[in-house]
Amino acid sequence: MTEITVRASSWAGLFDCAMKWEGVHLLGMKNTIGLRAALGTAIHAGTAVFDQARISGDSLTIDDAAGVLVDKLRDPENEYDPARDDLSVKDAERIGISLLSKYCAEVAPNYDYVSVEMETKPLVIDCGSDIHVRLTGTLDRARVHKHKDGAIGITDLKSGSNAVQKKAAVTKGHGAQIGTYELLFEHSTGTEISAPGEIIGLKTKGTPEIGYGEINNAKRVMVGTEDQPGLIEFAADMFRTGRFYPNPKSLLCSEKYCARYKSCPFKEE
Ligand code: SF4
Repeated sequence: MTEITVRASSWAGLFDCAMKWEGVHLLGMKNTIGLRAALGTAIHAGTAVFDQARISGDSLTIDDAAGVLVDKLRDPENEYDPARDDLSVKDAERIGISLLSKYCAEVAPNYDYVSVEMETKPLVIDCGSDIHVRLTGTLDRARVHKHKDGAIGITDLKSGSNAVQKKAAVTKGHGAQIGTYELLFEHSTGTEISAPGEIIGLKTKGTPEIGYGEINNAKRVMVGTEDQPGLIEFAADMFRTGRFYPNPKSLLCSEKYCARYKSCPFKEE
């Protein structure tokens, strides 16, 4: 039997461009990131520490969370290529702290989070032909949110240049990840997800802005119905056959975002 371990947070990328996903996660190809992506990592580190402190009842100020953001941005492990974005570290700090402060002061108090970036129990998917995929890891950048009526849902923070459009968070392209997180949460806790998924978008380009968007039926898209296979079945086919399809129409099909770009014969130039 062959068991392939896959981090849950990478799973959604499989449905964007499977060929790119195979390059990174099975063939070990690496891409350098830009400062804007590093800013995203730093914002998430700051918001996560703030939300976790609220859950644990620890006293942590917005300034403390901003300190975590700045440390993360300057952390040598948070490596990035400064030539990839038209952004200085000073501007990145300003944008990051502004978004973080807005999130902590205006957004976080409206949410009763149960967990932040929860560790999940591995979920094994039998792909047939003695191939098993083991989904592991945490609900990266996502929170479990208890709504006022007691319903439980996944709230995922997404940062980026276009994370907010027309005052709403962009939800397109995030359904597979929310669906995966819903499955993993239910598998790990035995508690049903009963509220729609939610995206909180944090826009890192132009005026810092925060917007919201809902994702319905994300889990059903993953597991399918009696008449319609879900994405898991399509993924199982890919793992069983070893055929990982290209998607040159992906918004991330570019040298900047794809480690396989140079050698990929399917890209559109
Ligand atoms: S270049 Fe485009 S089509 Fe090819 S692997 Fe990368 S994202 Fe996919």
